[in-house]
Amino acid sequence: MDDKREPTEAERAIVLARASLQEEYEQAKEAGDQDVMDGIREVVADLDAELRESGVRGPFPPLDPESKSVRKRSTRRRQESPDLPRQKVSRSTVGREYAGKYRPSMFLTLTLPSYGKVGPDGAPIDPDSYDYRQAARDIIHFPALFDRFVQNYRRASGRDVQYFATVEPQRRGAPHIHAGVRGSDPRAMIRQLTAATYHQVHWPHFDQDVYTPDRMPVWNYTMAAWVDPDEVDPETGDPVPVPTWDQVMDLMDEMDDIEPAHVVRFGQQVDVKGILGGTEEAGRHIGYLTKYLTKSISEVIEPQSDRAARHYDRLHEELCKTPCSPRCGIWLRYGVVPKGANEKTVPGRCKGKAHRRDTLGLRGRRVLVSRKWTGKNLTDHKADRVEFVRQRLAEAGISKEDVSRFRIAPAEPGDPDVPPREYLIMSMVAEKIRQRSQYDIARLAQAEQDHDSRETVAGQQDSANPDAA
Ligand SMILES: [Zn+2]
Repeated sequence: MDDKREPTEAERAIVLARASLQEEYEQAKEAGDQDVMDGIREVVADLDAELRESGVRGPFPPLDPESKSVRKRSTRRRQESPDLPRQKVSRSTVGREYAGKYRPSMFLTLTLPSYGKVGPDGAPIDPDSYDYRQAARDIIHFPALFDRFVQNYRRASGRDVQYFATVEPQRRGAPHIHAGVRGSDPRAMIRQLTAATYHQVHWPHFDQDVYTPDRMPVWNYTMAAWVDPDEVDPETGDPVPVPTWDQVMDLMDEMDDIEPAHVVRFGQQVDVKGILGGTEEAGRHIGYLTKYLTKSISEVIEPQSDRAARHYDRLHEELCKTPCSPRCGIWLRYGVVPKGANEKTVPGRCKGKAHRRDTLGLRGRRVLVSRKWTGKNLTDHKADRVEFVRQRLAEAGISKEDVSRFRIAPAEPGDPDVPPREYLIMSMVAEKIRQRSQYDIARLAQAEQDHDSRETVAGQQDSANPDAA
């Protein structure tokens, strides 16, 4: 790829649009509007992918730049971790080849550790000894753990490992990941890799409550700061400010050997299956990967028993005490003012998806695809999703505009009929929001229909399967 070429008109326009989105992101952040921030983050990720795909090299400026000094953390491996084999990452994206023609792939399932024995409904046998704290923290940091796994895998295998993975909750409420990986590696290597992979969370510790829901820090308008509700400085008589995130992190930088606030690892149970591309088995595994994607997470974790419902409640309670990011309002509970907090911050609370009861902490991204996953690119996956949504909408009697009669031609630079790129992108965002609400309506309609038909006859299933009648 040509590194030093001039960016094209289109690329320049995307960069411009990205910059204006960045500005809006700042505003949303100021206003504490998490939903808008999430939306913009998604669009910017798409734009970055588009830029990268067209050959523009990053890094692109992050939406949340690290403040002031870049913090350096020890990358020392913890003693108990087995060493990772390391090789230079080659450009090759495929693994070993057998007999010159079979190029097998693998299907991996990675789970989180045990927090206590559970029954078939996912509820713990002994809820009192179940490690809810560890379980909640692991849920929050699971995405980072998988990222680390992929990095380590690429180092260990020496190739640019490609995967298509889905994240789903298990009955016990812990996420696990199914990944189709292109190429194959020895099982023992995968096991060693999984055991060696961990993610350390270098945050202030949050083990002890400093404040409780009935006694939280308060916003002091004169000082424009979060202060202790009771304590006053004996000399000045002023309220005492609660230390900020940056202050606590700076303090931690000055101290040696601070244990990470949390370490997340995979469980012992690693499932590795070799599959041959194009075989029936491969199809079955792909089906498995996509099975859950048509369901919302809350459907997947519908409790199977009263005990399971209580279990989910308790896990949710713990998630409400677990900070999800440096900006999380829950930090005030532990005596730390979160990054970006202002008078609008609700102390001890956070609207982030990580704390929601219906999804038990699982956040939006359920499909993780590496950039060079064979065959389909991001646009193809989007097209698949679009088709699925189109069908749902059609079932609810909402049809999308037929665009097949339009002829689409690329616009020449300087064409006066072409609206500015920023306008196109913003209207795309608005259209997405409109479609999303249509889709929600369709889903609601579908749910009602399902409910009704369940009340009357079991005809629905039978019609889908003529043999059953
Ligand atoms: Zn949060």
